[in-house]
Amino acid sequence: MRDFVYSAPPMRVAFGAGRLAALADELDHMELRRVLVLSTPEQRELAERVAGLLGDRAAGVHAEARMHVPVEVADRAVKVAAARGADGCVAVGGGSTVGLGKIIALRSGLPIVAVPTTYAGSEMTPVWGLTENGIKKTGKNPVVLPRGVVYDPELTLSLPVPMSVTSGVNAIAHAVEALYAPDASPIVSLMAEESVRAMAAALPRVVADPGDGRSDALYAAWLAGACLGQTTMGLHHKLCHVLGGTLDLPHSETHTVMLPHVLAFNAPAAPAAADAVARALGCEPLWDRLRTLGAPSSLSALGARREDLAGVVDQAVDAPYSNPRQVDRAALTALLDAAYDGRPPR
Ligand code: NAD
Repeated sequence: MRDFVYSAPPMRVAFGAGRLAALADELDHMELRRVLVLSTPEQRELAERVAGLLGDRAAGVHAEARMHVPVEVADRAVKVAAARGADGCVAVGGGSTVGLGKIIALRSGLPIVAVPTTYAGSEMTPVWGLTENGIKKTGKNPVVLPRGVVYDPELTLSLPVPMSVTSGVNAIAHAVEALYAPDASPIVSLMAEESVRAMAAALPRVVADPGDGRSDALYAAWLAGACLGQTTMGLHHKLCHVLGGTLDLPHSETHTVMLPHVLAFNAPAAPAAADAVARALGCEPLWDRLRTLGAPSSLSALGARREDLAGVVDQAVDAPYSNPRQVDRAALTALLDAAYDGRPPR
């Protein structure tokens, strides 16, 4: 019996190579007159280019976004946006930059237009994150959902191949967990399977030639972000959040190491989701596909220490979250051990 709720997010998405050139038109749709352009320090040049395209519509560039949005970075950005008289922000970059825009939106209500340059998918979600005293708080608020998103695959050409692979797997992880989410719906499941199919097909092309496959990979990332924004994630995202937060492991690499293990663990309890993923991967196990892409395979190589894993198990067992398969300490310990060593899932 079908039984679901689906609510379409109130946002406008423009997609296409060269779309960045029409960013001012997108701002017109949102009636934004003076936007602060956000980026990381590494992407300042791109942010300056975007500000140049906007001319008088740009209230300047603020290139101070950092991973996990440290509170002092957020405080400064909120002040700069107010001091420059901005009526909105354009976040140009990956999840860290979009994340900074979200905190400005949360604190001051200024709308965001996102111009994503990775496959992380934050631009499609109402989820914000803020790190204070080493602890990352997250929350959900519709005010942080970008009002507009401009996807331009040309902006992803500079994303190094290893990060393209791990960021692409980060996107696949959103789609996988959306397939067995308690609030899945037929549209989300269609988007999720298509996302896995498109990303799994695009990444080998990106690896073979970094100029190839970019449009399909970003298309897959959009779909995955939409899945992430509309469903409740399970064990995989919980584990990655704990691993990233407590062991300070890199975001997309951690997703890449963990996903084959969690997928294999959950498959018996979520057969329809496992079938959809298998169809999307052409029946090749995810683990095998990732090896051909040269993706990282072990938590130890990412800097984790074996003695830290027990604490991760504690946190993951203690916190309530939805997952199709019951999680116990022994199963989680075995799963994390295999991921730590870089052994294939059983
Ligand atoms: P990132 O935004 O931290 O980017 C990593 C580095 O790559 C940065 O130096 C960035 O400037 C650079 N970079 C980005 N795009 C580039 C490009 N095209 N060319 C060259 N360099 C480029 O990485 P991310 O994986 O996109 O984001 C990770 C963060 O986003 C984490 O903090 C994660 O928790 C958060 N996130 C949040 C959500 C959400 O819904 N709230 C969703 C996904 C990720």
